[in-house]
Amino acid sequence: MDLVLNAADYHLLTPYVYPSMWPENEPFRQLLSLFVITNLGALALYLLFGTLSYYFIFDHELKKHPQFLENQVQREIAYAVQSLPWISVPTVALFFAEVRGYSKLYDNIEDSPYGWSGVILSMLSFLFFTDMGIYWIHRFLHHKLLYKRFHKPHHLWKIATPFASHAFHPVDGFMQSLPYHIYPFLFPLHKVTYLGLYIFVNVWTISIHDGDYRVPKILRHIINGSAHHTDHHLYFDYNYGQYFTLWDKIGGSYKSPTSFEGKGPHDYLRKLREKESNGQGNGCEPRTMPNGDSQKNK
Ligand SMILES: [Zn+2]
Ligand SMILES: [Zn+2]
Repeated sequence: MDLVLNAADYHLLTPYVYPSMWPENEPFRQLLSLFVITNLGALALYLLFGTLSYYFIFDHELKKHPQFLENQVQREIAYAVQSLPWISVPTVALFFAEVRGYSKLYDNIEDSPYGWSGVILSMLSFLFFTDMGIYWIHRFLHHKLLYKRFHKPHHLWKIATPFASHAFHPVDGFMQSLPYHIYPFLFPLHKVTYLGLYIFVNVWTISIHDGDYRVPKILRHIINGSAHHTDHHLYFDYNYGQYFTLWDKIGGSYKSPTSFEGKGPHDYLRKLREKESNGQGNGCEPRTMPNGDSQKNK
């Protein structure tokens, strides 16, 4: 994060914003700058990629699903925008520790323990580490002592849109981002790679809420995509993962997505339309899926 802070200081904050007698490395100034940068950055990523995904990827037919809430998109955005500043408070504390030099982040490829292959390896180990961390933290958040208070707000959206991606209770949002922030304190990581991964993580989180259930057949049982995560929102106890299905398979919580078996939200809508065009009315109870599985309304 010091790359962004230095750039902001150089181009904007030092010449135009802060009084000239306030040194760039003064801790309170760094905290204040990091708070503003983190909030603006997170908001920009969420709104930019969320909006692109909503208009170009999300299937708006899904808004006709009986479990799509009234004014859901506005509610998702409002919830996320209110939570992000609170999530940023502990996040800024970790970014501050990074800027003050307590992490294992490095500037140059020469500082990498194994050169370029070390950079590639660190990206793979970052994905593995965060996938594992998010799986167990997410599963922990489903514990009855925590679920209602911290994680239930994210499960309000049964048929999520890309804007649900950051609509978390602040404690939930921070806890699920923790593996990303802890990694550079434990393992060496290139600073530019870290920033790239920050963008990737945000875009991936949006993508698993985008209602585009397609995954190349060969990757269907490996990658945790929107189809898997939609079933998590609908059926709760399955597919807690983030990028891969690995930990759901190890943890016994993997469920082949209903949409891969012709029983997903799109299939439900199609059957609803068929029934309506056959003059039978909708005839479906909102909480019963076409495969007969009743969804728990946790
Ligand atoms: Zn959950
Ligand atoms: Zn979700």
